[in-house]
Amino acid sequence: MASASSLFLASPIPTAPRTRTNPASSPSPARPSLRLRQPSPAVTVAAALQAEHQPAVVAAPKPPALPFRVGHGFDLHRLEPGLPLIIGGINIPHDRGCDAHSDGDVLLHCVVDAILGALGLPDIGQIFPDTDPRWKGAESSVFMKEAVKLMHQAGYELGNLDATLILQKPKISPFKETIRSNLCDLLGADPSVVNLKAKTHEKVDSLGENRSIAAHTVILLMRK
Ligand SMILES: [Zn+2]
Repeated sequence: MASASSLFLASPIPTAPRTRTNPASSPSPARPSLRLRQPSPAVTVAAALQAEHQPAVVAAPKPPALPFRVGHGFDLHRLEPGLPLIIGGINIPHDRGCDAHSDGDVLLHCVVDAILGALGLPDIGQIFPDTDPRWKGAESSVFMKEAVKLMHQAGYELGNLDATLILQKPKISPFKETIRSNLCDLLGADPSVVNLKAKTHEKVDSLGENRSIAAHTVILLMRK
């Protein structure tokens, strides 16, 4: 498969704002008496040709190499009966699981989005679109490995990560350490910088009614 990095690593460079013609200065067709003298068609075409050969962005400034970068990730999946429930790469016994194109790992998806966000890159849905058959049923560890690779390529390492799972059922506490340990392995991080919390949604809304599961992640990256 093509490396995702080759697809979008250059994208976080901010583009210079486009110069816009002020509409107020344009002649109004509704008020012909106020029209300024128009340039001849030959002059207009010459100007257009000249403009066409000018680069759209003359000198896009390189983003500053910040010592720290913060990223936030959020994900939510619908729960459907009869599907496996995978959280942080761990199969959790439950009567339902996430309905998704990949394995529907809500935690890994939001960690990936937090890393990508910190790097100023597009979100997970743009990089691994659910219309791409390569990602059908894919283990989300694939996306994690790619995001971690991009982080290192950009010259950053993990500072720390704080994640919150939101689900009504099942109880996550018996699996929390296994999930956290797998998260550390995937990130190549020490457990002291990876935190995982879980909470219910007080039986309110789809999250509280065991019809969906969500996760938030905040991540700090540090320049190597
Ligand atoms: Zn997801």
